Amino acid sequence: MSKPRILFCASEVYPFAKSGGLADVAYSLPRALCTSYTIEVVLPLYQCIDRKAFGIELLDVQSEVKMGGISYPVSLYGCLYEGVAYRFIYSPLLCDRAFLYGPPDSGYDDNALRYGIFSYAVVNLLKKEAYSLVHLNDWQSALISLLIKEDISIQTKSVFTIHNLAYQGIFPHKALRELGLDESYFSMESLEFYGQINLMKAGIAYADRITTVSPTYAKEILTPEFGCGLEGFLDFHRHKLSGIVNGIDTEHFSPLQDKALVVPYTDLRGKAVNKRAFLKHTALKESKRPLFVFVGRFASQKGLDLLIEVLPKMAQLECSVALLGDGESKYHEALNALSKAYENIDVAYGYDEELSHRMYAAADFFLMPSLFEPCGLAQLIAMRYGVLPIVHHVGGLVDTVQDYATFDAKSAKGYGVVFSEPKADTFLKALDDALALYADKRRYNTIAKHNLRCDFSWKESAKSYIEIYETLRQESSNE
Ligand code: ADP
Repeated sequence: MSKPRILFCASEVYPFAKSGGLADVAYSLPRALCTSYTIEVVLPLYQCIDRKAFGIELLDVQSEVKMGGISYPVSLYGCLYEGVAYRFIYSPLLCDRAFLYGPPDSGYDDNALRYGIFSYAVVNLLKKEAYSLVHLNDWQSALISLLIKEDISIQTKSVFTIHNLAYQGIFPHKALRELGLDESYFSMESLEFYGQINLMKAGIAYADRITTVSPTYAKEILTPEFGCGLEGFLDFHRHKLSGIVNGIDTEHFSPLQDKALVVPYTDLRGKAVNKRAFLKHTALKESKRPLFVFVGRFASQKGLDLLIEVLPKMAQLECSVALLGDGESKYHEALNALSKAYENIDVAYGYDEELSHRMYAAADFFLMPSLFEPCGLAQLIAMRYGVLPIVHHVGGLVDTVQDYATFDAKSAKGYGVVFSEPKADTFLKALDDALALYADKRRYNTIAKHNLRCDFSWKESAKSYIEIYETLRQESSNE
């Protein structure tokens, strides 16, 4: 019997285009599901994607997408990569840009139109081909759930996953008409949001199921503190909502198979070689000191203000700090000044996948003082590489990192240093605890080795997605 066919839609997918964790999930989750389903992944064919390198070919000059009385040309491309079929939507307005969503400090003004084109093109695909289900991710594909609910010729059920509620796709009222939607959608039950339109609301209102990327975040977003103004709306739709913790692709993130590393490793001796090699390439020289690493977006969410406040004090401690990231210019400037002022702080700017892998392999501790964290993948990757993450007890970090004080060698969970409040004194206390733990070599090594052996794969979480898919397929066949 042939496997059910699923279409997985995302605005970024590793290794084609990546700005953060969504791209990792859109790469690794379909791979984890493809033994049960024929799964195809669809994304925009951004100009940064190397068509030749990936063997991306034109499948269909798909004609056009009509929205608000204007026609936009659209073509469909495709390739097979590591056993998964990828579909790419190409339209000049959507794809021919220097950045995926906009320059670091802002989004493109016409993002509603751009992802409107993407959404309508995906709907055309759903009309043409028989998919039993469509899995949508974040606001960029949220409109698809509305479009398929309103089109009686489409029976496909939809799952909508919120990777980060802080990015909702909010646009002026006029975007409604540009998207070809009439005024009836400008209501509280639909897309209206404080006089503007909110595309995230489309996914929440019209998808058959909503998931978030960790169980704790699924609860947090129902509160004013984390709901970003949508807590009431989400609460109204909570019967459809659940949280499934993300996994990582343990082949891609594997200290034993990682080609970016100077030596592959399965133990702490091999890890130490990588640490020395990394330090050699930076201004940081002392390898006996613990190395604290940060890899991520330079954004308020990631606790950058707290980090910048604490770094001068951290620089006085017996440790080295290495940061890699990209993001808001105010953080670039502040970090630049700090790395000039202190010899044990090193900062690399930009997006560099290979360097990030070498940093995970080199690190003793990984800094993750996020103010909120839907799931977070960086701490999972860090633990996979035998690192202890230092995390604020929030969102997916609650579900994935246990405090070292409760260490149990029999547990399947990963361990790090957990602090309760995103404040300088609690963060500094966590750093002091980390230094004390590092000085207790046997204890530190036991925990680092435990993390190296833990399973952070999709194995368990994929089962939860399959359960949702199968429930929806059952509902669909009962209708
Ligand atoms: P986000 O909120 O950005 O999605 P996650 O922790 O879920 O954060 O995922 C971030 C992913 O992006 C991880 O794979 C991390 O290693 C990677 N990453 C973030 N910034 C960079 C960078 N500047 N260079 C390389 N990889 C990065």
